[in-house]
Amino acid sequence: MKRIVILGAGESGAGAAVLAKKEGFDVFVSDTSMIKDRYKQLLDAHHIAWEEGRHTEALILNADEVIKSPGIPKEAPMVQKLLAQGTHIVSEIEFAGRYTHSKMVCITGSNGKTTTTSLIYHIFKAAGYDAGLAGNIGKSLALQVAEEPHEYYIIELSSFQLDDMYDFRANIAILLNITPDHLDRYDFEFQKYVDAKMRIIRNQTPEDSFIYWNDDPVIKRQLDKYDIKAVQCPFSELKEKGSIGYIEEGQYKLEYPTPFNMEQEELSLTGKHNIYNSLAAGLASNISGIKKETIRRSLSDFPGVEHRLEKVCKVAGVQYINDSKATNVDACWYALESMRTPTILILGGKDKGNDYSAIRDLVKQKCVGLVYLGADNTKLHNSFDDLGLPVRDVHSMKDCVQACYEMARPGQTVLLSPCCASFDLFRNMEDRGEQFKNLVRNL
Ligand code: ADP
Repeated sequence: MKRIVILGAGESGAGAAVLAKKEGFDVFVSDTSMIKDRYKQLLDAHHIAWEEGRHTEALILNADEVIKSPGIPKEAPMVQKLLAQGTHIVSEIEFAGRYTHSKMVCITGSNGKTTTTSLIYHIFKAAGYDAGLAGNIGKSLALQVAEEPHEYYIIELSSFQLDDMYDFRANIAILLNITPDHLDRYDFEFQKYVDAKMRIIRNQTPEDSFIYWNDDPVIKRQLDKYDIKAVQCPFSELKEKGSIGYIEEGQYKLEYPTPFNMEQEELSLTGKHNIYNSLAAGLASNISGIKKETIRRSLSDFPGVEHRLEKVCKVAGVQYINDSKATNVDACWYALESMRTPTILILGGKDKGNDYSAIRDLVKQKCVGLVYLGADNTKLHNSFDDLGLPVRDVHSMKDCVQACYEMARPGQTVLLSPCCASFDLFRNMEDRGEQFKNLVRNL
């Protein structure tokens, strides 16, 4: 019996273990951290051996193949030992892909993955398609393949998952954009991160589709390097050479495989970035044969994703928006760009080496006040105080919301789009967004 060892018992690892067991492998799961109770129960229910708080070499190095959690870097000592002895290491998505013939709609990019994946899932469900949500969101692909198979999977893929994919084939591959991110995991070489993203088109055939952002200089530079077999479906904000999805005279238009149009104003997601996400999602749906009226309706009634430009409520004529997921400057740029009323911007947190000059012009154009929310706000003071806007310095969400309430006038917007990670004052970006929403609702 072949032995499969799984490193990391989170959502993907536990799911991979269940599928491997079902397929008749000798399965062992090892995690250097404590395993969550619900995953322990899942493993026990399937009589799968596991360990936590350590990696026991003797139980791991004898694997025929290893499935590695995307969270474990290749530099981890156990991964290095496995690589040195030539053990094949794959991701959970790669492994699960071997045991299904379902159609795979795969989404990657530096920003916009969750929004686009959720929007596509929303359209597919509205169309009555039998679809599962997988990858970074929803249940693991492996568990669904093992226990509740679907005809379609809509899969959000990070570069870390793509790193360990070899034979997996995406029937529809979407590449939203590539900007520098996670370089610490790619030897600080941007090209290595780019190469990981481009793995999404590996194994595609002429029956498949490759949807990508036509305006992205990084993506465009890569195209010539690959023998792309899939039908290329570039989209851009405005009609451009080759683009088959774009906005023209207030109309959202798709040209492929059959013409589709609707009023841009009817798109439920606002902001330039969401035009891209909506074009990518519309193309994937049109290619999958979903009825035009369903696509139109779903693009206009999609409720959006929590913590991404999420409208919280209006208090005293002021609109409050939660974009806590904007943990880098690029994401905040798109949020600010979409503001239509004078804005009080909440910025700050754990800075990943941010260069704020990218948003200075937009801050000048759109903002009437700034609230700095971080354990240490020095860099924000140095970057923005000279603009002469009213500034408040706070260290808790309670004081932050109070400061916004005092500053904002009717007709204005308060936007939490912090450019930073949240770990200095909050558990995570969800905690930051929840605290913001609760305090705003109680104003
Ligand atoms: P991801 O899953 O890739 O992190 P999300 O959909 O969660 O992406 O969005 C993260 C942040 O990035 C949001 O705050 C949003 O404002 C911004 N964003 C969303 N889509 C795009 C896009 N297509 N281009 C640039 N920024 C985007």
